[in-house]
Amino acid sequence: MPSEVKILVTGGGGFLGSHLSDALLDRGDEVFVLEPGGTTKVRHLIGHPRFRVVRDSVLSLDILDSLIAQVDLVFHHAAVVGVEHYVGDPYEVLNVNVNGTQNVLKAAFKYGRKVVLASTSEVYGRNPKIPWREDDDRVLGSTRIDRWCYSTSKATAEHLCFAYRKMGLPVTIVRYFNIYGPRLDKLDAGRIITIFMGQLLRGEPLTVIGDGLQTRCFTWVGDAIRATIQAGVAPGTEGGIFNIGTDVETSILELAKLMIEIGGGNSTIRFVDQREVYGESYEDIPRRVPDATRMREILGITAETPLREGLARTIESFRDEVAPRGVARAAGA
Ligand code: UDP
Repeated sequence: MPSEVKILVTGGGGFLGSHLSDALLDRGDEVFVLEPGGTTKVRHLIGHPRFRVVRDSVLSLDILDSLIAQVDLVFHHAAVVGVEHYVGDPYEVLNVNVNGTQNVLKAAFKYGRKVVLASTSEVYGRNPKIPWREDDDRVLGSTRIDRWCYSTSKATAEHLCFAYRKMGLPVTIVRYFNIYGPRLDKLDAGRIITIFMGQLLRGEPLTVIGDGLQTRCFTWVGDAIRATIQAGVAPGTEGGIFNIGTDVETSILELAKLMIEIGGGNSTIRFVDQREVYGESYEDIPRRVPDATRMREILGITAETPLREGLARTIESFRDEVAPRGVARAAGA
């Protein structure tokens, strides 16, 4: 692949897609973003001579066809993500994540373009064998538990990738482990860091579900993006699956304490029952840890940014969004 590439990022207006677009433009690539939602996360890129946003969805096969015809490589990030969607709107999760991926692969196959699929550590479900290697089993609960629809949708997307690979399409799969950083979901929505962030910035108690001893490996977005680009352009990645994450485990209780310590303010911790937050269609995952060997040895990347440092930058960026410097913050907000 040439060092400067024409690239389509589906879902490029989202958290990971927007950071990926930044990094690709920095490399000198030309970036097309397909994004049906808001473009707030890429507003700083609008007007860049090598950047273009198309406001449409991966469910539009015609648009995908015309975009993929023009590019060398596709990063497929468009997906419905966030536990509130898994339990609130499982149809949309399955429709976008499965049918959207099929559309991307169909068009990519027509033009012979490589696809990097943004997948997830959720595919391992709650496999108790820690850490997880890429070929480890998926251990999931009942289909009555809506939470598992996301894991299933992404596993189906992976199967579709391998089915197309059998027909000759170059594909690579990256599985993200709790990536965080500026421009993560909206305050109070999406993933745990933005839920805690909203509570922290208002000085409210942070709601820790259960005893808070469940763990995640929180991975700085910059590290994840470096690995993602390597999955797209480095030789020897085709047909591979790569865990993308740090193997440093942090409990949700430790995360809450750390955010309060770094963020300052008056927040305390409130332990809540999971049914209070997500109802009956939810089941938690006790531990989630990647084996990062392939990421390190084949992609040449280690997720080395310490959580304390990444959280400080993330809290600062959300403070700036809520109250830009020099306005409310000067008054002590
Ligand atoms: N969680 C919590 N308080 C909340 C929301 C979530 O303690 O208000 C916990 C949740 O039970 C899980 C962890 O935070 O153990 C991470 O949740 P997230 O929604 O980020 O997604 P997950 O990592 O489970 O996919």
